[in-house]
Amino acid sequence: MSGSCSHVASIRDVTPSTRGCEECLKTGSPWVHLRLCRTCGHVGCCDDSPNRHATRHFEATGHPIIEGYDPPEGWGWCYIDEIEVDLPNRTPQRGPIPRFV
Ligand SMILES: [Zn+2]
Ligand SMILES: [Zn+2]
Ligand SMILES: [Zn+2]
Repeated sequence: MSGSCSHVASIRDVTPSTRGCEECLKTGSPWVHLRLCRTCGHVGCCDDSPNRHATRHFEATGHPIIEGYDPPEGWGWCYIDEIEVDLPNRTPQRGPIPRFV
């Protein structure tokens, strides 16, 4: 699966900007899982969540690589190539992570 993504060079060590989905925390919305942008540290909610902010962050910024942040599964995903990518490391959670589900 991995190996055909040319964006892995853009993966950075980031500090999560917030403990939960940045936009959902502002609006009081619940989320299901969290995704961390490995370009800027934005925390967004997954596509099972009502607002899908991680995908919307990609659409707004073009930042291609996310990490499965909560639960911390360590996988990476490239939105552009739509494939799993190997991450060089796993970002520590800032916790405690708010949970709704
Ligand atoms: Zn890619
Ligand atoms: Zn959200
Ligand atoms: Zn980003």
